[in-house]
Amino acid sequence: MKRVFRAGSLIQVAHARNVLLSAGIQSELRNQYLAGALGDLPMLETWPQLYVEDADEQAALRALARAATVPSGASWTCELCGEVLEPQFTSCWRCGSTASSIP
Ligand SMILES: [Zn+2]
Repeated sequence: MKRVFRAGSLIQVAHARNVLLSAGIQSELRNQYLAGALGDLPMLETWPQLYVEDADEQAALRALARAATVPSGASWTCELCGEVLEPQFTSCWRCGSTASSIP
């Protein structure tokens, strides 16, 4: 399983889950009730999170990116690994590098 989304608000996570569902991707909601319960965990780790099957990861990330932003501008190429990325992505999904070189 791969984590594709997390947010401090269960509402945001539920919305993201609906986005995935409408794209035909099943997701698993974790940490639904954990937030605020465990003071020793880093906060991000206690946030509600969405997981998908490994094979669905890229499709899920694309569906979420499409839902979150309106694509604009041109595709860009990752400086580190050479992956060509669609404009709505602000970081490389392959190596994690950020899009510092967007024109
Ligand atoms: Zn890259």
